[in-house]
Amino acid sequence: MRKKIVAGNWKMNGLAETVQELSNAVADIQARCEIVVFPPFVYLLTVIDMLRNTPVRVGAQNCATALLGAYTGEVSAPMLKDISCRYVLVGHSERRSLYGETDAIVAEKFMMVQQVGLTPMLCVGETRAEREAGKTFAVIQAQLDAVLQTAGVSAFARAVIAYEPVWAIGTGLTATPEQAQEVHAKIREHIGAIDGKIADSLPILYGGSVKADNATALFTMPDIDGGLVGGASLDAAAFAKICHAA
Ligand code: PEP
Repeated sequence: MRKKIVAGNWKMNGLAETVQELSNAVADIQARCEIVVFPPFVYLLTVIDMLRNTPVRVGAQNCATALLGAYTGEVSAPMLKDISCRYVLVGHSERRSLYGETDAIVAEKFMMVQQVGLTPMLCVGETRAEREAGKTFAVIQAQLDAVLQTAGVSAFARAVIAYEPVWAIGTGLTATPEQAQEVHAKIREHIGAIDGKIADSLPILYGGSVKADNATALFTMPDIDGGLVGGASLDAAAFAKICHAA
């Protein structure tokens, strides 16, 4: 049986006071799923310290492709490991579309995160135009293949995938449970064609306007193993309900 995970991506939101309030609230959530939060970089250490004696895991929203060196403004995977991060988001659609991260860069980051012993949470997903053109799975397959070719299928034994249709992120539009399940099953099938055991144990989360009122229907689909939550993760009560749904 695969573990369920609910992850909150706080993006570039909150200041010290709200981040602390949110961390305290997340620490109080009693749920059966694994809970992960991705705070902004400057608050990572604070949140890690606040959640140290709780089951909640903390992750970073991004990392550099390089190990160290003259990369002004970047944060390396070894630094994240050093401060006890557990996860790193890789290939979030905002990184792909706003910061030009190609499939190749995403694959490099995925490798770097794994090399230092952290777990990459790889985001994949199609735009609205790609869905309307019937290219949903071709796009996702290319995003997966870039990582599979660089890191190999064995890397997915220590990874999480988040299927996040770009048209559903921050828009209030959500994939129906059936639409999401169809893509999740195809992702699992694609990995499973290379290694069935790894595919069976790989957590695949859904992201894209997950809310307290749609979480249960999504999370009860057979290939949906939880959610990556943006907006609703900033509302402690809504996030707790989503965790309880998993
Ligand atoms: C996200 O940014 O990963 C996300 C899913 O955002 P939202 O839940 O706000 O759509």
